[in-house]
Amino acid sequence: MAQLRVAVIGGGWAGLAAAVELSSADAKVIVFEAAKQIGGRARRVEINGYALDNGQHILIGAYRDTLRLMQKVGVDTTQRLKRLPLELNYPAAGFRIKLPQLPATLHLVLGLLGAKGCTLSEKLSAMCFMRALQANHYQLTNDGTVAELLNQHQQQGKLRRYLWEPLCLSALNTAPEIASAQVFVNVLRESLGGSRAATDLLLPATDLSAVFPDAAARFITAHGGEIRLSTRIASIETDLQINHEKFDHVVLACAPQHTSALLSKITETSGIAALLETYVYEPIATVYLGYPPEVTLPSPMTGLGCNEYACLGQWAFDRGALNGQHGVISFVLSASGNWVQCDDKTLVTTLHHELEKTLGKTLSLPLWHQVIRERRATFSCRINLPRPSAQTPLHRLWLAGDYVCAEYPATLEGAIRSGITAATELLKHKPIGGA
Ligand SMILES: Cc1cc2nc3c(=O)[nH]c(=O)nc-3n(C[C@H](O)[C@H](O)[C@H](O)COP(=O)(O)OP(=O)(O)OC[C@H]3O[C@@H](n4cnc5c(N)ncnc54)[C@H](O)[C@@H]3O)c2cc1C
Repeated sequence: MAQLRVAVIGGGWAGLAAAVELSSADAKVIVFEAAKQIGGRARRVEINGYALDNGQHILIGAYRDTLRLMQKVGVDTTQRLKRLPLELNYPAAGFRIKLPQLPATLHLVLGLLGAKGCTLSEKLSAMCFMRALQANHYQLTNDGTVAELLNQHQQQGKLRRYLWEPLCLSALNTAPEIASAQVFVNVLRESLGGSRAATDLLLPATDLSAVFPDAAARFITAHGGEIRLSTRIASIETDLQINHEKFDHVVLACAPQHTSALLSKITETSGIAALLETYVYEPIATVYLGYPPEVTLPSPMTGLGCNEYACLGQWAFDRGALNGQHGVISFVLSASGNWVQCDDKTLVTTLHHELEKTLGKTLSLPLWHQVIRERRATFSCRINLPRPSAQTPLHRLWLAGDYVCAEYPATLEGAIRSGITAATELLKHKPIGGA
């Protein structure tokens, strides 16, 4: 039987996941990537002599397919990811919750009961909330906003401010007032509602390209595939020709806005293009401040919130504790908010002061800084957002990308799962002239 020839357009985590699965099924895979490097929205950037990331990322233990694929391509997950029990620590607000290393659901019950900086009634109410979701199998009758869901279940006070709302922002990159409650509940089902290990934080202990994309590329080429960088695909012919090369299948693994541009040129897929054109996007900024090596955080991931005023930043990460980049603190500013209007200088000054407040001491000014703004970091994960499936009306053209994984918000795990699904569906089809 002739070897299956598959084009994968887009070398982000979704495209690479599809390419890895197809390569291991003996397909000949060519990955076309517009940029000079692979990794898409989760990749290494070289700045100031440091291997940093285009955006600080958080993974969690529930990212089962990401972990499986990392292992498949030869990444030692214990080396590349720092596994820590879930801890949300806001020193300036006096709030802290840390889940103990105990089996589910004891870890959640004792973790909530041991939370500092909130009342007993808030803790009991949070337990009732989780129990109510579980009793309904994490399925809401109707989608609404996360804010409505929290109101409906009387989730107020400090646990709302320092647990539920930050979880919503971190996972969905969408403000609770507009974010989809059902997708949020899906995330809770897989994390807090899952095993203890599923709740663990998995913080990159290296740059993001070394977490998966680099090893995935090596795996693909070792299996006879190719990665063609700096190759932007302008169109897909209906007979699946790309740049005058004919393929048995094409996996289109770009972000929604780039996918819709390609799909709108094909009659059969113009409906999906029209659907994707309705998507709106949320930004994320990652701000790196370089301090002397002795500047450290109380937890590798520390919350910036305080009770007196709303902080611009949400989280600060101690890159020294995570990957040996001592003194480098990365700050995450998720979803559209006041920070978007701030210029870089204001962001840097404000975050420096928020860090001082968090640490309760004066710091010398940062030695260097770098602001990276991703204006279309993720799709805005709103109520009843329609998602296309992997299969398209054009025979043998498949979709992958974080937006295809309907259960999940825009995340690495969503991207990886979508790539696996596209590969699995594709492999069920026989190649042209196949037996
Ligand atoms: C700053 C930031 C922080 C984030 N934080 C987290 C986090 O903490 N945890 C988490 O799980 N997720 C996080 N995410 C989301 C996560 O990074 C994305 O969901 C995931 O990387 C999307 O992968 P993808 O493969 O679907 O898309 P992409 O990464 O967008 O990959 C698509 C690829 O296609 C290429 N391409 C586009 N058009 C063409 C074309 N015409 N021809 C060829 N190639 C093309 C692009 O260059 C790109 O490399 C974050 C994202 C950002 C930006």
